[in-house]
Amino acid sequence: GSQGTNEVNLALIGELGSGKSALTVKYITRRFINEYDPELEDTYSKPEHVDNQDILVRIMDTCDKEGKDPERYLKWADGYLVIYSITQDAPLILIGNKVDLERYRTVSKPEGSSLAHFYNAAFFETSAAEEFSSVERVFHEAIREVIREQERY
Ligand code: GDP
Ligand code: MG
Repeated sequence: GSQGTNEVNLALIGELGSGKSALTVKYITRRFINEYDPELEDTYSKPEHVDNQDILVRIMDTCDKEGKDPERYLKWADGYLVIYSITQDAPLILIGNKVDLERYRTVSKPEGSSLAHFYNAAFFETSAAEEFSSVERVFHEAIREVIREQERY
C-alpha cells in the first residue's frame, strides 16, 4: 500500500470481458477502443487532482489466468474497482471465511449478511480450517444456484 503519500493504487478486478481494459484505457486516454488483447495486464499512472489534492493514481488493469497469483494486486492495491457487465447475470455467494479465528473478527455476521442481502447474494460463514461439512455446504449451495440458473433457460 502507499498510504501516507499522495499516491493511490487501484486495481480493476472482475470477469474476463466485463470491460476492465476498456474502462482503464478510457480513463487514461479518454478514448473507447473496441478491441483489447484479452490477456493484457498492465499498470498505468495518471496525475490527478481530486478534492483539491494532487494525487498520483496508479491503475492496474488485471487479467487473471491460470498460474497467476492474485497476490500481485492484493498486496499492491489500496482499493479495488469490481467490474461486471450488466449484460451478464450469474449467481453470487458471499463467503465469510476463517471463522476459526473468531477472536480476530472485525466484520460481524450481520454486516456480512446485510452486504449479501444488498447484492441479492446467498451468504455463509465458514472455515477452511474446520470441519469439511461446513465447507461442502457452501460449494453445494453454489452448485445448486448455478443449476437453478441453468434450468431457467
Ligand atoms: P476485460 O476482459 O474486462 O478487460 O474486458 P475488455 O475491456 O477487453 O472488454 C471486452 C469487450 O467488451 C470488448 O470488446 C470491449 O470493447 C467491450 N466493452 C467494454 N466496455 C464496454 C462498454 O462500456 N460498452 C460496450 N458496448 N462495450 C464495451
Ligand atoms: Mg482486459
